[in-house]
Amino acid sequence: MFAGRIDGVGPRYCPSIEDKINRFAERDRHQLFIEPEGWNTVEIYVNGFSTSLPEEVQYEALRNIVGFENVKMFRPGYAIEYDFFPPTQLNYTLETKQVQNLFFAGQINGTTGYEEAACQGLMAGINAHQKTRKLEPVILKRSDAYIGVLIDDLISKGTNEPYRMFTSRAEFRTLLRQDNADLRLTELSYRLGLASQERMEKVQAKKTGVEKIKQVLKDFSVEPEEINSYFLSVNSSPITEKQKAQKILLRPDVELDEFADALPRLREALAEFAKDTIEQASIQVKYDTYIQKEKDLVQRMSQLENLEIPETFDYQKISSLGNEAREKLTKIKPRTLGQASRISGINPSDVQILMVFMGR
Ligand SMILES: Cc1cc2nc3c(=O)[nH]c(=O)nc-3n(C[C@H](O)[C@H](O)[C@H](O)COP(=O)(O)OP(=O)(O)OC[C@H]3O[C@@H](n4cnc5c(N)ncnc54)[C@H](O)[C@@H]3O)c2cc1C
Repeated sequence: MFAGRIDGVGPRYCPSIEDKINRFAERDRHQLFIEPEGWNTVEIYVNGFSTSLPEEVQYEALRNIVGFENVKMFRPGYAIEYDFFPPTQLNYTLETKQVQNLFFAGQINGTTGYEEAACQGLMAGINAHQKTRKLEPVILKRSDAYIGVLIDDLISKGTNEPYRMFTSRAEFRTLLRQDNADLRLTELSYRLGLASQERMEKVQAKKTGVEKIKQVLKDFSVEPEEINSYFLSVNSSPITEKQKAQKILLRPDVELDEFADALPRLREALAEFAKDTIEQASIQVKYDTYIQKEKDLVQRMSQLENLEIPETFDYQKISSLGNEAREKLTKIKPRTLGQASRISGINPSDVQILMVFMGR
């Protein structure tokens, strides 16, 4: 495979040892994880040493590793190659455009990874069901879930190498959090008959609770003398005149739960709310500016669609770009920022970095 007799593109994110030696030639060490295959066997899996080199080369290479001088090899490593259907031939429901009622999910769509396969299976399954029942398709937006980002990337950009989901592929990273997954997706799940009534009611109560807490924080005034000793204890600067709790919460060293512990009046005002509801409200207040900023940035990015990138632009010099982005931008040389953003593997975060380097 490495000699070029097979020209398929390997998965970038789990390269073979020969690939690593080639791509990261400047490194002088590499970590291997030695994983026992079971309690009752001497067999171990050498994680970090995947290879498709000839068997005798593998054996010799292993014996060159300190500690492995007398190693025995049960089975050599091998490469696999598989084909895929360009995912641009799919609808957002994962039904193929060519053949009605045929849904594709997983590796067949050019992805690599367990979660990538699993989430597509879920969406294809849901949509196949919806279709047979003549119900509305279920499509997650990029701002709803990472699943939405993955499917949108595949369908609108296609892929020329095994696709892996990264948080950096999403422009709404501060919206797509673990802590708000229940608020984002339970209602849909309930409508589909997946989440129970009880679960739905819990989420609804949490949602209302969060709004109520945010209002409490907005209205709640704090006097310097009742809070300054707390500020001192968390290395936060004291206040000189009264301030709203909402504003105080914006301080990075102030956590709502501790803050309320230090201020009985506030604890009392929050008494009726569950711990996770308080935590959620606190996160929403703290992140508000960031979320707003993120929305503005996305807006700005779309306005800069036609911004021209000079032909002589040297991507290799921008160390903040990832390897993948540098490689692809150098190869494709996009003319505009918009074109750069549509290259498979170029993430919103890469486009933001380019914007900075182009003085925007
Ligand atoms: C050695 C190795 C290590 C990996 N390590 C990781 C890892 O650490 N983390 C990670 O996230 N991903 C890893 N992956 C990738 C991950 O396993 C795959 O991306 C994922 O399993 C793909 O799921 P899938 O359902 O699309 O395909 P598959 O799991 O391949 O499922 C396809 C199924 O279809 C069946 N099938 C094929 N043809 C037919 C037919 N004609 N009729 C009926 N059935 C058929 C097959 O038997 C198979 O069960 C690894 C892959 C390999 C090979």
